[in-house]
Amino acid sequence: MTEPDTDTEAYARSLDAADPLARFRERFHMLPERIYLDGNSLGLLSHDADAAVLAAMQSWKEQGINGWLEGDPPWFTLGEALGERMAALVGAGPESVVVTGTTTVNLHQMVGSLYRPQGQRRKILATALDFPSDIYALKSQVRLQGGDPAHDLALVPSRDGRTVKEEDIIAAMTDDVALVLLPSVLYRSGQLLDIPRLTEAAHQRGALIGWDCAHSVGALPHAFDEWDVDFAVWCSYKYLNAGPGAVGALYVNPRHFGREPALAGWWGYRKDQQFEMAHHWEGASHAGAWQISTIPLLSSASVLGSLSIFEEAGIDAIRAKSLDQTDYLIRLIEDGGLADEPYGYRIGTPQQHSRRGGHLAIEHEAAAQIARALIARKVIVDFRKPNVIRLAPIALSTTYHELWRTVQVLRTVIETGEHLEYAEVRSVT
Ligand SMILES: *Cc1c(COP(=O)(O)O)cnc(C)c1O
Repeated sequence: MTEPDTDTEAYARSLDAADPLARFRERFHMLPERIYLDGNSLGLLSHDADAAVLAAMQSWKEQGINGWLEGDPPWFTLGEALGERMAALVGAGPESVVVTGTTTVNLHQMVGSLYRPQGQRRKILATALDFPSDIYALKSQVRLQGGDPAHDLALVPSRDGRTVKEEDIIAAMTDDVALVLLPSVLYRSGQLLDIPRLTEAAHQRGALIGWDCAHSVGALPHAFDEWDVDFAVWCSYKYLNAGPGAVGALYVNPRHFGREPALAGWWGYRKDQQFEMAHHWEGASHAGAWQISTIPLLSSASVLGSLSIFEEAGIDAIRAKSLDQTDYLIRLIEDGGLADEPYGYRIGTPQQHSRRGGHLAIEHEAAAQIARALIARKVIVDFRKPNVIRLAPIALSTTYHELWRTVQVLRTVIETGEHLEYAEVRSVT
């Protein structure tokens, strides 16, 4: 028996034919004629989310204020109800997750609530490759506690500009660190950190640890309870496809239930007495206490629709296909000679499955220009400074054939030199 030619178009088609998740593609509004590889930045709209938003509009239209208690589901407890469903996706008990706020707001809320500099233990530890919003939030949290970010925010450096080594992070967990905040998946290189190992290390050294999972929820399984993380925050508009600016979510470890949130609001009040309108704040006994304001109904309705797809497909199957698709892309690039001259594409993402999130970082000196040339050829990717093109196959909607075509376009762009027509400036996103 001979091995099949794995770089052919026919082979790509055969992978699609054998794909158990293939049927989910039709649940999405795919962009006509475009290959969409940017779902790690903004997921596409599903028919399910579309219908759920319209149903929420209808409910508002027909019920007015009665929707708070009589909506289907009732709006008043929607953050908790969605949290319960989201909890199953992230390996958490139903009371530990609430759908509320947005990533940066939830980060402020959780760091503000758990970061208590005391004695010599005053530092927050993060990494030099973090998403900028997280760094802005951490600096302002340090200042709010009377600290100076120049001393009290420590960033673990990267040795190669792409990844951060777990042993470097652990070595930086010295006894002046009060709280560690890390990304599950680095937004640029796609490196997946070893969450259980780092969580255990932080606890052994007497620090609390929280995780920003904006780049991992919806792409891979989580086990927040088992890993024993103190808290986690994430958004629902990337892999969870709930729409631009849609409401995010947070996880609180049950050991912190009952602590006073840094930013209290009436939406975190115990629900059975919220309308007593007392001035003395009495929080919910679970993660719901960290809600601040009235839930944004329309951007929560889309989460409702979106989650139903994840419940049907199963996150383990999604992860299996995601890894297989990124493996396939790597193989096509390497076996096709695209990592060699004159193409010069480098894979900037760790290759081991346990160290890789949902997207691939392709590095090239002319990445900014190549990204624009790809978009002009209807392959939707994004560019991240200084030299990264991010390609995110989305297990629920990307076909192997699209990945095969993407690699042909990567080849053609260099062969024609058409990327050289673009100036080296990036567009706004
Ligand atoms: C996308 C992302 C954010 C975005 O924060 P918002 O508050 O939703 O704008 C923050 N942190 C990380 C790591 C992200 O990937």
